[in-house]
Amino acid sequence: MQVTGTLVWYYFICHREVWLMAHQLIADQDHEDLDMGRFIQETSYSREKKEVAMENIRVDMIQGDDKELVISEVKKSSRFEQSSRMQLLFYLYTFKQKGVKAKGELRFPKEKRKETVYLTEELEEKLKRVINDIQTIIKQPVPPSPVPCKYCGKCAYYESCWV
Ligand code: SF4
Repeated sequence: MQVTGTLVWYYFICHREVWLMAHQLIADQDHEDLDMGRFIQETSYSREKKEVAMENIRVDMIQGDDKELVISEVKKSSRFEQSSRMQLLFYLYTFKQKGVKAKGELRFPKEKRKETVYLTEELEEKLKRVINDIQTIIKQPVPPSPVPCKYCGKCAYYESCWV
């Protein structure tokens, strides 16, 4: 199973959800807020997006040239900033592995704010640990036990965890 930006994003929300999504267990489709991917979609700002897909990644926007490539993630709000930053770093890391150096830009148009993100050595090491951890989680035969968090109430897997 490939680690994706979506799994990196969810890693900072809930490890059980990472397992459930990676194993393609279908979330409650009638849930009012989300299912797989919809949560991220809803926190993204579609008007600003020009999605580019490449293998296991899907980035919101690529700009620049061979001197400086800029990969952007566009979000509706900074509420999930850590998840968004690590997701973007995962994209930078994926590009780096293909020999493409790039910097990232987290954009919050509604907040009129953007943040430049660089894949430093320290952040790359952190990301590698996260990727390893995700691989360990999804290799487990059963999902991690649910741990209550502030996102449970909006989670499409709520019933599989708490009912
Ligand atoms: S309901 Fe809570 S514990 Fe269960 S998958 Fe969702 S966020 Fe994780």
